[in-house]
Amino acid sequence: MSSSDSLKEKLSSEKKKIADSKTNSVIRTRFDKLSSQKFSSSGSLYGKSVLIKDNIAIKDEKLTCASNLLGSYKSPYNATVVDRLNDASAAITGQTNMDEFAMGSSSEHSRYGSVQNPYNLERVAGGSSGGSASAVAEGLCDIALGSDTGGSVRQPAAFCGIYGLKPTYGRVSRYGLVAHASSFDTIGILSRSIDDIVNTFSVISGFDSKDTTSSKEKVLSKKEYNKSALPKTVGILKKDALSEIDTEIAENYVVITDFLKENGVNLVEIDLPYLKYCIPTYYILTMAEASSNLSRFDGIRYGSREKSDNLDDTYIKSRSKGFGPEVKRRIMTGTYILSSGYYDAYYSKALKVRRLIKNEYNKLFSKLDCLFIPTTANPPFYLNNRLDDPMKMYLSDRFTVPCNLIGSPSLNVPGGTTNEGLPIGFQVIGDSFKEETLFHFAHSLSKAKLFE
Ligand code: GLN
Repeated sequence: MSSSDSLKEKLSSEKKKIADSKTNSVIRTRFDKLSSQKFSSSGSLYGKSVLIKDNIAIKDEKLTCASNLLGSYKSPYNATVVDRLNDASAAITGQTNMDEFAMGSSSEHSRYGSVQNPYNLERVAGGSSGGSASAVAEGLCDIALGSDTGGSVRQPAAFCGIYGLKPTYGRVSRYGLVAHASSFDTIGILSRSIDDIVNTFSVISGFDSKDTTSSKEKVLSKKEYNKSALPKTVGILKKDALSEIDTEIAENYVVITDFLKENGVNLVEIDLPYLKYCIPTYYILTMAEASSNLSRFDGIRYGSREKSDNLDDTYIKSRSKGFGPEVKRRIMTGTYILSSGYYDAYYSKALKVRRLIKNEYNKLFSKLDCLFIPTTANPPFYLNNRLDDPMKMYLSDRFTVPCNLIGSPSLNVPGGTTNEGLPIGFQVIGDSFKEETLFHFAHSLSKAKLFE
């Protein structure tokens, strides 16, 4: 069979799997468009299928961010990551479900309904890139892109038992990603295979003049990323901190840290700097940024318009009808945070705390190659379990938001399952622009096959 025939066969089998899937993870497919696309067998992602989160622009495809407000919007251009995937001959097969405007930790805030976890359909897949994670775990594609502002790639990757990379802020162009909180947003990669993560990262990372925060920092070759090596010095949680996480997660954590110790890694017990201030700082800053970013969705510039006889009413009606409850909560809180009487008390103070947190992590990275911590404190929770309690939902991000506050790269690696068969995940966190440390570590762990 020729390589193009086997690609066709693979795509048609994935199309069927998507149609049969019960997880509600894929909201649109574009297999029809692929038949006219030219793929080069020398492309570095030739033969790989990729699903894209519905907040990353694909030319002439819908781009709704799972919101009613953008229900009929089509993107007139490609995100840079999409151009780069196409240039590498990846097959972009469709778009994935998510929390509206990437605000959430469970993929339940969506105009398309909740995403389900493929390991247990009564459980959440995590969020906000829950559709991407669930689709990858179920084998509906090889690779998916998601966005990670506070954990939205790593947490669903952990809940679905796959790899999920949040690159260093500025490493992957944000051009064409609908902004949630611009100083936090990153585009990340989800896959069952660490090799696919590395190859996709090599394709989509690197400077882009269309994104002013894109970094010119050198991107290494695929060969340099593909080595397998354990770091020399790793920061891990102190024993008493383990009592705050689920016991089965803590047990698997010890299995991995024991393996590291036996293999000569110098383990240093650390406190995560200012951990209890990370959630408030993150939510103050991201809500402020979101309230400003989402002002463009007013029914005039973007978004479906509710008819009215005056401009203010048009804005009010369009936004009231278009946005869901979580997005409204954040826009209102963010506007309050930025209002003149409260700006200094909340916004500027949170910026200062962000700087303090960053300074402390810099100190850690001056002594350690990376940190190794759980991605979540609990296995995937039941659907509808945290929807009515925003604070409980926000606290799900305890271990993931620090990396977004400091801009560091972080990779979720699968770490076995609970007795009930629910996935567990751990994060390797590195210093900025040191993704290779994460990849080398993950390659070594995957070879060790600790949970097979
Ligand atoms: N759960 C976090 C939030 O709701 C993270 C979102 C994200 O990373 N997009 O803000």
